[in-house]
Amino acid sequence: MRRPAIGVTLAVDEADPVRFTVRQDYVRSVDQAGGLPMVVPPLDGESAAQMLERVDGLVLTGGSDVDPALYSQSAHPKLGAVFRGRDEFEIALCREALRRDLPILAICRGHQVLNVATGGTLFPDIPSQVSGVVDHDPHTERWERAHDVQVLPGTRLREILGRDEVGVNSFHHQAVKDLGRGLVVSARAADGVIEGIEAPDRRFALGVQWHPESFWREPEGFRPLFDTLVKEASSR
Ligand code: MN
Repeated sequence: MRRPAIGVTLAVDEADPVRFTVRQDYVRSVDQAGGLPMVVPPLDGESAAQMLERVDGLVLTGGSDVDPALYSQSAHPKLGAVFRGRDEFEIALCREALRRDLPILAICRGHQVLNVATGGTLFPDIPSQVSGVVDHDPHTERWERAHDVQVLPGTRLREILGRDEVGVNSFHHQAVKDLGRGLVVSARAADGVIEGIEAPDRRFALGVQWHPESFWREPEGFRPLFDTLVKEASSR
């Protein structure tokens, strides 16, 4: 049986930017769900469209901060390293995938890319911009749950997870601020930080601020997210 090809975007290694990297957790999660993981390196926008002709679905992975200039804001003192080439490529890739109605699972930075690609904005640094008691970057192990999120009724995320509240890991200091066009909020942390977004008029375009792929070894993890991505990709 032909397995649907799932593009998995490559990150730029902050410690050694001549290298691209990808955490095995993304690859394992897609493989476990029955998808065929295919790495997608950042090139130019025209290449993005051609790459999408060869895959059936897309995982936008985590990584460095998105350049605030791409959502019309000036640099913030707490901004981390930015890689404009990857940002521009993934924004082009995401827009084209939405146009084609290709299934997208957007994770952490990817969730932020989905928002920026549709005209939304970000908080460049949660601790200096959002008042709250939730630590979104507590330096835990990848698979440790750091805080709860409320999953909103009537959303695709709620349908997939089957729960109103779920514990998630958290490795981010940025967050979605103003929503992009066509997006709705699907999950929030107790401090109001947006932890899930989705495009209801697309087949499957869903962003989560946490890292569901890090739980692939756990039966109680987030396999249904990857299962749904692969199912939607295989029915195209
Ligand atoms: Mn968080």
